[in-house]
Amino acid sequence: MTKTILNYNLRKTHCPRGHIYNPENTYRMKNGGRVCRLCHRVKERMRR
Ligand SMILES: [Zn+2]
Repeated sequence: MTKTILNYNLRKTHCPRGHIYNPENTYRMKNGGRVCRLCHRVKERMRR
């Protein structure tokens, strides 16, 4: 199971919702993670 997750992270080219991770659509987090900007925007909207 861990192996599957690792592979998934290494080969990540799309976010779970299907948006592509390209430089324009990728938001870098302080902890080194990457976030899809479109999804990030949706999350922010849902908060408010
Ligand atoms: Zn996304």
